[in-house]
Amino acid sequence: MIEKIKIYLKRIRCNHSVTLLDSTLKYAQDNDLSYLSFLHYFLEKECNFKNQIAINRNLKTSGLPKIKIFDDFDLSYQHAVSKKLIAEWTSFDWLDRRENKVFMGPPGVGKTHLSIAISYAALLKGYKVKFFSMNDLIDEMLLASYENKFKEWLKKIIKFELLVIDEIGYLPIKPVNANLFFQLINELYEFRSIILTSNKMFKEWGNTFGDNIITSAILDRILHHSETILMNGDSYRMKGKNKK
Ligand code: ADP
Ligand code: MG
Repeated sequence: MIEKIKIYLKRIRCNHSVTLLDSTLKYAQDNDLSYLSFLHYFLEKECNFKNQIAINRNLKTSGLPKIKIFDDFDLSYQHAVSKKLIAEWTSFDWLDRRENKVFMGPPGVGKTHLSIAISYAALLKGYKVKFFSMNDLIDEMLLASYENKFKEWLKKIIKFELLVIDEIGYLPIKPVNANLFFQLINELYEFRSIILTSNKMFKEWGNTFGDNIITSAILDRILHHSETILMNGDSYRMKGKNKK
């Protein structure tokens, strides 16, 4: 009968349970588990395993350049962030409401660190996240567009529940790319959450995108449901270097 059960488990893709069946049965017998407790225990193990596999897969496809966590973020150095804010961010209610976040400030204040920390926490909670630097995003959109596959690419991207676009404003964006970017933002609007980081204030984005009309169309959609975190201060990269 055990062999037949293993075949059934394989058919319903519970491969982890196949390997665990013998030890789980022994555990149930030794601990005199009720039918209900046994089933609960058995299914819980399979589900936890499946969740972990999905998290690992999502981590791989996320494109996170490295792992950064909130515990390593020094709140005494960056006053725009607090424990309360981090708790709010990692509740992910904002993500469920499809709201956006914009981290804005000069280089080195921790914008990328925070967007990665949020992404990583979201991934561990089971959300699908995709991280891009603005440059890589533009390259990918352009390539898809040249290959006449932009719509297909968009369909793939909107499957992610959170899209992070890091470093808007470092390089000017050509009109054709600004147009593709607008199409992306329009597709995500009120459907998915976006985290943006930028070293430029919103009023300077017109210069970055080279066109005020498309810039206000982009900003209009991003800012409709969003929180902007203005980060100031010295670069953390220079920490300790200026002290005599
Ligand atoms: P930005 O994206 O704003 O240019 P980063 O997030 O890349 O800055 O931060 C630069 C470096 O300093 C990174 O290694 C980051 O982990 C670290 N860092 C920045 N701010 C803090 C902070 N408040 N506490 C700890 N590390 C920080
Ligand atoms: Mg950065």
